[in-house]
Amino acid sequence: MKYVDEYRDPEEAQRLLEAIRPLAGEPLRIMEICGGHTHAIYRSGLDQVLPESIRFLHGPGCPVCVTPAVRIDQAIALAKRGCIVATFGDMLRVPGSHESLRQASARGADVRIVYGSLDAVEIARKNPGRDVVFLAVGFETTAPANACAILHARELDLENFSVLGSHVLVPPVLRYLLDAPGTEIDAFIGPGHVSTIVGSQDYAFLPEEYGKPVVIAGFEPLDLLEAVLLLLRQRAEGRCSVEVQYRRAVRPEGSPKARAVLEEVFELQDQDWRGIGRIPRSGLGIRPGFAPFDALSRYQPDLPQDVAEDAGEYICGAVIQGAKAPVECPAFGLGCTPEHPFGPGMVSSEGACAALFRYRQNAREARA
Ligand code: SF4
Repeated sequence: MKYVDEYRDPEEAQRLLEAIRPLAGEPLRIMEICGGHTHAIYRSGLDQVLPESIRFLHGPGCPVCVTPAVRIDQAIALAKRGCIVATFGDMLRVPGSHESLRQASARGADVRIVYGSLDAVEIARKNPGRDVVFLAVGFETTAPANACAILHARELDLENFSVLGSHVLVPPVLRYLLDAPGTEIDAFIGPGHVSTIVGSQDYAFLPEEYGKPVVIAGFEPLDLLEAVLLLLRQRAEGRCSVEVQYRRAVRPEGSPKARAVLEEVFELQDQDWRGIGRIPRSGLGIRPGFAPFDALSRYQPDLPQDVAEDAGEYICGAVIQGAKAPVECPAFGLGCTPEHPFGPGMVSSEGACAALFRYRQNAREARA
C-alpha cells in the first residue's frame, strides 16, 4: 500500500488545504477533464473540503459517456446477425437508441465481457466459425491496446476478428469547449492516464492560445489537492503554463512506443461525441490498410446509421460538457440510477452522475 497510502495522508492533506485557503479568495472554476478525476473528487470528498470559491466542472473525459448511441445500436445489430460482441462490462448498460447490450443479451444476443482487448482476439481464435466484433471505446489511454489487438489479430491471420471503434481525443474536445460561447472554464486539471501516452506537450495550446493554465494530476486525493494549489499559485504569480503534478508517470514526450502503435493503426477522423455532436478531427479511425479488421468497413452498409439523440427533458449533454451539474437534472437519483441509467453519465464509475450518486449515498444528500 506504500504508493497508495502516501498520497492519502490526512496530515499532508491538511497542510495542502492550509496552503490553498489564502490563495483562494477569487472564484476559480476548474475543469477536471478525466472521468477518473471526477470519481476521485467525489470519492474523497474534495468538493466538500475545498473553499467554496473553488468549483469543479466535470469534463467530457468518461469514455463510456461520450460513445455515441449509434455505436451501441451497431453492436446490437451485429450481435443480432450472429456475431459474438465482446466489450468491457460498463458498455453493456449504456443505453442505445432503443435498448442496451445487456437487454439485447437477455433476448439471446451473444455478448461477452472482456477485461482487455487481447481477450477479444482470443475469443476469435477459439471460435473460428463465428465473427467476433470487439466494441472498443476510449481515449488516447486505451487506443494503443486496441491497436495492438488489431496487430495481433493480423499476426494470427484471423479472418473473423474486427473492431467496432469509438476512439476519441482530448485536445480537440477542449478546443471545442473553449470555443463555445459563454464558456466558464478558468483552468484545467489535465488527464493523468492520457498524458502518460501523449505527454504534457499536447496541452501547450491551452495557455498559449486560450490563456488557460493546466496541471496534469494523478488520481489520489493529495495529487488533486496539489494540482489545485499549483493552479492557484500560477494565478497568484501571474503565470499561465502547463505543469505536471503527476511526475511519477508523465513525461513531456509521453510514450513514444504507444504513439508509434497509434500512428501505425489509426488515422485522424471527424468523430461523433455523445451529448456534444460531431467535432472535426477529434477521433481515431482505423487506417484503410487494416480495413478487414474494421467492423465499420466490413459490415457497412448493413449497420444502423447516425441517429439524432434526443435528450428529452434530461441534461446529459450539458453534464458531459461540464455546463451543468448532475444535481440540476430532474432525473438524478429519482428514476435515473446506476441500476436503471437513463443516460450514459449514470453508467460508468467515471461518469459524473454515477460518481456523485455513489458517494453521496442518496439524491437528497447530493442535492444538499
Ligand atoms: S442523471 Fe441520468 S438523465 Fe440526468 S444527466 Fe445524469 S445520466 Fe442523464
